[in-house]
Amino acid sequence: MRMILIGPPGAGKGTQAARLVDRLKIPHISSGDMLRAAAREGTELGKTAQSFMKVGGLVTDDIVTGIILERIAKPDCAQGFMLDGFPRTPPQVEALNQALQSSGVTLDIVLLLSVPDELIIERITGRRSDPVTGAIYHLKYNPPPSEVVGRMVQRPDDTIEACRERLAKYHCDTEPVIPLYEAQGILKRIDSVGPLDEITARIVAILR
Ligand code: AMP
Repeated sequence: MRMILIGPPGAGKGTQAARLVDRLKIPHISSGDMLRAAAREGTELGKTAQSFMKVGGLVTDDIVTGIILERIAKPDCAQGFMLDGFPRTPPQVEALNQALQSSGVTLDIVLLLSVPDELIIERITGRRSDPVTGAIYHLKYNPPPSEVVGRMVQRPDDTIEACRERLAKYHCDTEPVIPLYEAQGILKRIDSVGPLDEITARIVAILR
């Protein structure tokens, strides 16, 4: 299965992807995670990406597209993949379409996780992750177990200012991606408000 998760920041893409990949046995490819890893490694590309990410801007299409197309060409993606956070602009859609076409494969489904803007700021500013396992929690809605509370970290772009900018970028740059996949007939909308298990169940029902 070749699938894409799109949605505003804080829609639960990373959380739901982690729950789904175990069932689907396909690699979870998060452009944000890959860019953060490059930034941690301190490569030139990582430093450039970091300068956009920390203020909530988008990393340039050529950088992100290069990283993702290289990743999905790896052997573990031969039977499928779950892209999370990519494509985020129409030029990224075009680059992905071309790459898939030249490999003779097609996308199966694009899941759009929807959350109203007013919930997003609360979701993002309460988000924390465990640097050891990578697990994502929310201080109120999905609190971490007591043994890991002390080591929780917050993403530098989960501040209110960066979050507002990311949301603005989503509306302006990423929403135009939606009609492109609607036109391909593979877009499905998921209401991403409610308990995590319920949202997972909605996704699983659609995938069936
Ligand atoms: P995420 O973890 O998906 O919220 O992404 C974190 C940040 O990484 C975003 O705010 C962007 O700065 C950058 N980023 C991730 N994916 C992309 C993409 N497909 N295009 C441009 N920038 C991206």
